[in-house]
Amino acid sequence: ESVIETENVDVWYSDTQALDDITMEIPEQQVTALIGPSGCGKSTFLRCINRMNDLIESARIEGEIRLRGKNVYDDDVDPVALRRSVGMVFQEPNPFPKTIYDNVAYGLRVQGKDDNLDEKVEDALRRAALWEEVNDQLDSSGLDLSGGQQQRLCIARAIAPDPDVILMDEPASALDPVATSKIEDLIEDLASEYTVAIVTHNMQQAARISDKTAVFLTGGKLVEFGDTEKIFEN
Ligand code: ADP
Ligand code: ADP
Repeated sequence: ESVIETENVDVWYSDTQALDDITMEIPEQQVTALIGPSGCGKSTFLRCINRMNDLIESARIEGEIRLRGKNVYDDDVDPVALRRSVGMVFQEPNPFPKTIYDNVAYGLRVQGKDDNLDEKVEDALRRAALWEEVNDQLDSSGLDLSGGQQQRLCIARAIAPDPDVILMDEPASALDPVATSKIEDLIEDLASEYTVAIVTHNMQQAARISDKTAVFLTGGKLVEFGDTEKIFEN
């Protein structure tokens, strides 16, 4: 079962081709790593899945992207609703300047899933391995946490509304080694319940935490895609 399928996807920014004929899949309840040199289109690929790339004026896309079998460019797809059904985590931890509680509750509220809110907030914080550290300070600002805690808060915020897929763009590369290793353990654990696609420039990290690996090359070409163990065999 694949949550995302892309077929012959090309992306240009004006005259620069960022993705060249990408056909791949993001399988359900696995971690898929996207690796390759800077500028090979990894972030662009993530931004296509929830049509964030549409927000870039010079961007053009061809090909097909399906989320749970549904073409994200069909007329009846509302891009705002689409973005809400996809969790995103970025390189720099970016909690909202709100309380820890309100950060996690945010997506649940905008999606109208705010019944039993306290329980859902606690549950997401537990799944993000943060509950024990913050349960007595849910009313303090998310910005008062350490960098690693802030990133786990962002993960809690992303998973709370139960998204179809969680897209992570270099989620650990702004963190110190201890915080990085906590995030890596967490991402591995998330795959028992969630589908994760993670961009990383760190090959060891991809080898450690992913089930599938996609190797991109300059010019936005996909040169290898398959089981991580096989890809890192040689
Ligand atoms: P990666 O994430 O692998 O570093 P990107 O997807 O960021 O790659 O970039 C792929 C290519 O698209 C690069 O040549 C980059 O310069 C270009 N690019 C990315 N974002 C934009 C943008 N907003 N406008 C114009 N060109 C862009
Ligand atoms: P609106 O503000 O129109 O109700 P949203 O708040 O759902 O829409 O989303 C606004 C933008 O912020 C979207 O592009 C979405 O992808 C992004 N976004 C929403 N939630 C998060 C989040 N938890 N982390 C990062 N970006 C987010």
